[in-house]
Amino acid sequence: MRPILIVGSIAFDTLHLGGKCHPKVLGGSATYASIAAAHFSPVQLVGVVGHDFPDAATKLLRDRNVDLAGLEIAHGETFHWEGRYSEDLSSRETLRTDLNVFADFKPKIPKAFRAAPFVMLGNIDPVLQMEVLDQIEKPAFVLADTMNLWIDIRHAELKKLCARIDMLVLNDEEARQLTDEQNLVVAAKALRALGPKQVCIKKGEHGALLFQGEEVFALPALPLSKVVDPTGAGDTFAGGLIGFLARSNDLSSSNLRRALVHGSALASLCVEGVGTERLISASTGDVHARLETFRQLTSF
Ligand code: AMP
Repeated sequence: MRPILIVGSIAFDTLHLGGKCHPKVLGGSATYASIAAAHFSPVQLVGVVGHDFPDAATKLLRDRNVDLAGLEIAHGETFHWEGRYSEDLSSRETLRTDLNVFADFKPKIPKAFRAAPFVMLGNIDPVLQMEVLDQIEKPAFVLADTMNLWIDIRHAELKKLCARIDMLVLNDEEARQLTDEQNLVVAAKALRALGPKQVCIKKGEHGALLFQGEEVFALPALPLSKVVDPTGAGDTFAGGLIGFLARSNDLSSSNLRRALVHGSALASLCVEGVGTERLISASTGDVHARLETFRQLTSF
């Protein structure tokens, strides 16, 4: 078990789902990723919150094997994001983004975290993602996540970041947007040419594709009868993936495929509750049950 350094947003999310509003639930890319990764290996979290961030939330993270030595508590309010989902949960619109303390966030990596062998650069400005890399020693594996906003406004920086990471994780729309290629195989090739050894393209309920070397691996998502809230599923997927890699400390291509299965198992739990609630309540037994279902669905 090796520690995973995770940097990203820590948020309160107001979620509109099926005509109901869920105000200020715990969210943020780093929160979802940390809870997911900590199912498999200890996490070192770096992020910022405001004075309104409740002790119960810090306790919840600490109790789950998340080291908060890199959590900055700044003057002001915690980052707040508000989104509304379509009836069938297939799309969402952002109603509001209050950056609050996140506006001036400059990640400071504590000395004790700088040798972390596994690093996840959650969805934040690629300039900040590169500042994290500038502060750490040579890790064994760096995964970066991103979103359409950064593809729009930090295109060149994102491409520069790609040259410094091992795996880029993004969804199908983002892969097309970043490369101007419609075909995902061609898009993945163009992304790998920027530097990452692996490119993982998420396709929501249609699963995920992993491109490495000459190989393509296609993993279906678990067919679920209950989907409540897709928020954070992508962050959870990436957190579970890197958490498993850190636990197994094996970067072979077959183990990377296994890591995708572990990420998907956690993402399938995440979407069953509002915000992080289901991910938080998931026991080791629940995770193993999902992995068993995957075993039956695929032959990993
Ligand atoms: P996902 O559903 O995987 O896109 O992740 C949703 C999470 O991303 C929510 O918990 C939000 O708090 C967080 N989020 C939304 N917008 C941003 C942003 N501009 N930067 C960082 N995190 C964000």
